[in-house]
Amino acid sequence: MCPNCFSKEYLKFESFNEFEPVRIQIENSSTLRHIGEHTGGLGKPLFKIFGIGFGGRTDFGFDLYQCEICNEYWKLAEPDYAWRGYLLKASAEDIACVQIQK
Ligand SMILES: [Zn+2]
Repeated sequence: MCPNCFSKEYLKFESFNEFEPVRIQIENSSTLRHIGEHTGGLGKPLFKIFGIGFGGRTDFGFDLYQCEICNEYWKLAEPDYAWRGYLLKASAEDIACVQIQK
């Protein structure tokens, strides 16, 4: 992680206010590059609570970003109602399932 990157990982956003600075950072940064997106829905949830799947890595879509300074990859799922989203470093597996935009 470098100073240009996101300052921390969020396992989930506790509130929309917590997501806001992340959104603004993406909007204003010229060195965080949108690489592509994973639309989700391909993975099977590991277990379900009240009809909502948990544990599957690809249940929800995410956007993949790369820091052009240190080449770190990040995956961002935006919060949406009950879904809290997340911001995490992307694994090679995550990157592999994203359609790279040229
Ligand atoms: Zn970086």
